[in-house]
Amino acid sequence: MTDNFLLQINDLWVEYETEDARVYAVNGANLKLERRQTLGLVGETGAGKTSTAMSVLRLLPKNLGFIRKGDIIFDGESLLALKEIDMLTYRGSRISMIFQDPMTSLNPVIPVGRQVAEVLELHNSEGLSGEEIDKQVDDMFELVGIPAWRKHEYPHQFSGGMKQRVVIAIALACRPELVIADEPTTALDVTIQAQVLSMMAELKERLGTSMILITHDLGIVAQNCDTVAVMYAGEIIEYGTIQDLFEGERHHPYTEGLFGSIPDIYVESERLHPIDGLMPDPSDLPEGCKFHPRCPYRMPICERVIPCDHDLDGHLIKCHLFNEDNQNDLPAANTRP
Ligand code: SF4
Repeated sequence: MTDNFLLQINDLWVEYETEDARVYAVNGANLKLERRQTLGLVGETGAGKTSTAMSVLRLLPKNLGFIRKGDIIFDGESLLALKEIDMLTYRGSRISMIFQDPMTSLNPVIPVGRQVAEVLELHNSEGLSGEEIDKQVDDMFELVGIPAWRKHEYPHQFSGGMKQRVVIAIALACRPELVIADEPTTALDVTIQAQVLSMMAELKERLGTSMILITHDLGIVAQNCDTVAVMYAGEIIEYGTIQDLFEGERHHPYTEGLFGSIPDIYVESERLHPIDGLMPDPSDLPEGCKFHPRCPYRMPICERVIPCDHDLDGHLIKCHLFNEDNQNDLPAANTRP
């Protein structure tokens, strides 16, 4: 089973160092992604989702973001052990990323077809001729549902949804094994969102790609993912299959809170139940369980001891409620490097 994992993130710690503060963005995250599967990475803004993704690509801001501890294993190889020059053969070709806003991902003064061709030229290990690259650009446009003749047009001539299709064509041009999609449809309206997501799912199947789908929308997760990791204050606080999350009865209190804040269209005049309080300041994280200031179930131990991952048949929950004897002190689950 282990061999089937395309990506494994082991005990990852990421910090940002600014003049005024040290920001603890990712605090001992563990993740696994099987080949050809989609993992949903869920959480509020500031939970550490994008920092985790940027660490996989080793694209943390230079001299500001640092991986302090942990390892990222991609297809059996440690990405963190690679030299920067070797990392170039992974980025864009074996691992690619789709960003949130297509307007900032595309170059406004270069025709869209040229932008797809550039990726193919950069990773042209097969020595394709100009004509062959041109043919592949046409194929990519066809794959994402844009007529090939539009490749000569500029980004401003496309609607938001069509621009995101171009971004997806760029991301998939080299047939990567892993695509990280960071809130890929947040900038689009709901109808276009559904079209783009269903197209991404279809392409993923056709090309055999694995995907990490970063989102704060549990509806998107339910429809598109095989496994789910819920992040809070830089930690993965719940991890399981889509069935564990949406059909299981046992959840982390934070995940329970997320479900409580989703409107139910079948319940008349239902009031939403937002989670009290705010995500903690990542430069001043609370002791013990990082969710304890907001948790309706907190116990004395929660304020002192970081909970361990409790394994409920592969469904992992980081919470003292699942300790066999939750009044006892336990060793800290994660140790800051
Ligand atoms: Fe709540 Fe304690 Fe569980 Fe944290 S460990 S989520 S504070 S019950």
